[in-house]
Amino acid sequence: MHKEYENCKLCPRECEVNRTIKTGYCNATTETEISRAALHFMEEPVISGTNGSGTIFFSHCNLGCIYCQNFDISRRGSKGRKITDGALAEEMLNLQSLGAHNINLVTPTHYMPSIKNAIILAKNQGLNIPIVYNTGGFETVDSIKALDGLVDIYLTDLKYFSPYYSKLYSASEDYFDYASEAIEQMINSVGKYVVGANSLMKKGVIIRHLILPGLVNDTAQILKYIAKRWGEKVLVSLMRQYTPISSSLPHTLTRVITNEEYNTACELFEVLGLEGFVQQAESVGKDKIPSWDKP
Ligand code: SF4
Repeated sequence: MHKEYENCKLCPRECEVNRTIKTGYCNATTETEISRAALHFMEEPVISGTNGSGTIFFSHCNLGCIYCQNFDISRRGSKGRKITDGALAEEMLNLQSLGAHNINLVTPTHYMPSIKNAIILAKNQGLNIPIVYNTGGFETVDSIKALDGLVDIYLTDLKYFSPYYSKLYSASEDYFDYASEAIEQMINSVGKYVVGANSLMKKGVIIRHLILPGLVNDTAQILKYIAKRWGEKVLVSLMRQYTPISSSLPHTLTRVITNEEYNTACELFEVLGLEGFVQQAESVGKDKIPSWDKP
């Protein structure tokens, strides 16, 4: 058992709970739970490539966005399979043997110490493909520093600029402050992005931003911020796949984004000279959400 779980401050929520006895906001215990481990083809092209990304989805989440596209695993977590650090390392090696271009750790924040140990174990047994840390961005600088030398690629969200909306939708008024400092540390750790001759990413940071209905002004603030602070150091992935999933969403979140909102964001992306990816209309829909039934 990793000592960090005894007084958990692994993310900015700083619940300070002993996870051997009770759970904090994320609902995770000391035992790592995964919902799915498989080749995944729906990430950015530099991550999925032709063979797929070796993706491991972790149960539970430290953000708990009310519109989450993976609600089944992030909040209820009922389908998670408990896994030791050694078995997690084996999953990574298995995905490598299946031809995965990388190991893609999705929603890892609340299990960071276990994941870190599993990466070390797997590397000692021959894991040699890039490690992708796929996070909602609500991270502490200390957690990112702890992964120095082990993670090659950060695939991180930057969800909100506005504290009002980050509080309303993700119960984290200070989301932007924490996420932006965490991203700074990610860039310090892995440097400017590098894409190899095979069009696959070797290292670096991809900042993802999901355009939410009615929040295109917030999207604009984020894109401008990225351009000004990090410019050519990072790739940016502008996502339009927002799909209302839960039946209890506020009315502001019960629709997909409009073409006008999408076009406004895309135009700004281009004007700012950002490098990266813009998701197309065919990315929208419930059929784009992976199945969690076969971990
Ligand atoms: S990882 Fe979970 S328990 Fe730990 S501080 Fe974050 S939300 Fe709380």
